[in-house]
Amino acid sequence: MTYTIKTAQNEWEIVCGLEIHCQIISKSKIFSGASTEFGDDANENVSFIDAGMPGMLPVLNKECVRQAVKTGLGLNAQINKYSVFSRKNYFYADQPNGYQITQYEYPIVGKGKVKIELSDGSSKEIGITRLHIEQDAAKSIHDLNPKKSYIDFNRAGVGLMEIVTEPDFRAPEEAGAFLKKLRSIVRYLGTCDGNMDEGSMRCDASISVRLKGEQGMRERAEIKNVNSVKFAMQAIENEAKRQIEIYEQGSTIEQQTRQFDQTTGQTKFLRLKEYADDYRYFPEPDLPPLYLTDDYIEDVKKEMVELPDAKKERFIKDFGLTAYDADILTESRQTADFFEKAAKGHDGKKVANWILGDLFANLNANKLTLEQSPITPEMIGELVDLIETNVISGKIAKDVFVYMWENPKMPSQIVEEKGLKQVTDTGAIETVIDSVLAANPDNIAAYKGGKTNLFGFFVGQVMKASKGAANPQIVNEILKKKLG
Ligand code: MN
Repeated sequence: MTYTIKTAQNEWEIVCGLEIHCQIISKSKIFSGASTEFGDDANENVSFIDAGMPGMLPVLNKECVRQAVKTGLGLNAQINKYSVFSRKNYFYADQPNGYQITQYEYPIVGKGKVKIELSDGSSKEIGITRLHIEQDAAKSIHDLNPKKSYIDFNRAGVGLMEIVTEPDFRAPEEAGAFLKKLRSIVRYLGTCDGNMDEGSMRCDASISVRLKGEQGMRERAEIKNVNSVKFAMQAIENEAKRQIEIYEQGSTIEQQTRQFDQTTGQTKFLRLKEYADDYRYFPEPDLPPLYLTDDYIEDVKKEMVELPDAKKERFIKDFGLTAYDADILTESRQTADFFEKAAKGHDGKKVANWILGDLFANLNANKLTLEQSPITPEMIGELVDLIETNVISGKIAKDVFVYMWENPKMPSQIVEEKGLKQVTDTGAIETVIDSVLAANPDNIAAYKGGKTNLFGFFVGQVMKASKGAANPQIVNEILKKKLG
């Protein structure tokens, strides 16, 4: 998509890349046997390794490796059969070792690509630079006590996948679409829960600007730990505008690390950016290089599930859905599964309409997730069939849906109990029509005198008299005949 920021003098372009830290779903931490359970009491799940005790040796968790390879395959990326762990040295209270075990020159996953869809109907491929695995730091808590900071080591040593993209984003919306797609991919794969608000997926954005048509890149600012898709888009837009203002005042930008302020929507200065050299990376002496075999990679491939892009294509092809509907229905695996179950053996397009319309509206209004839905896929499927086979009208189906929501049972049962079956018996409908006509001689005269728009009035009266049960098509046919 074309997106520029115009000022009185110039037209500017955004150049942005993302780095996303995803907490790996695994029972234990990446280099120790301590539990990764979220929400336990502070410092309950801490081994000697996580606490940085001297002489402790890390042992690599196989499951974390498998999850990273799976994610790499999901990003259509190169899996590296040889990778190396490195020490990234820095001093901070959340890392008592004085270093983080990560990967540097030789990451486990190399170049890949992810397709994103945009609101203008276009799509774009975003380049993945790499994915490497590393340990998370402890969590510092600064807001519990005005004079003290607390540290919770439960998070220390939890496995992370750091996913780095190429600087391919030219619009805040593109970054937003990518984050949503990535979240959807890791959730489908079950490799990360993707909950940005809980910090299990954290986004850093590198942002610079340049004049439209300008080649090369200018100095960039890195915005740290943005915790929602909306905030990421806001941070990119406002940071770009800040830089543009500085350039247009005749100043320059220094490479720096900044923080997003949720209340103002602006970014604020944190520190001048450290360069890779500052970390004194060197190969981790306590861990050997990691070798993966072709057989192993093939084995992981066999565990891959159908991912959102492939599922979307299939839904469009098999059920005749629009790209837009297929997009929403495949955003999560739960929604896709629900739809597929409901659509099985029924009209998929109509099933999609009920799910995206009445069902989602009711779930939203009651703040329920799809898993908590009182209405099952089978109920939706049967409801669509009842309309298709003229057992009930579309209008009655709306009422059936309301009953179903309040008192969940199969729609056929509701139709039976409440006597909602559509009347298709022409004799019975004719009787109702005759009584309506008999009660409205003035309107008949007016109709015959040229007020033909009264036809709708008669239809309405007949439907009302039949309590909505008469088949509207048959009502129309008979009425037309009777009114000449
Ligand atoms: Mn990192």
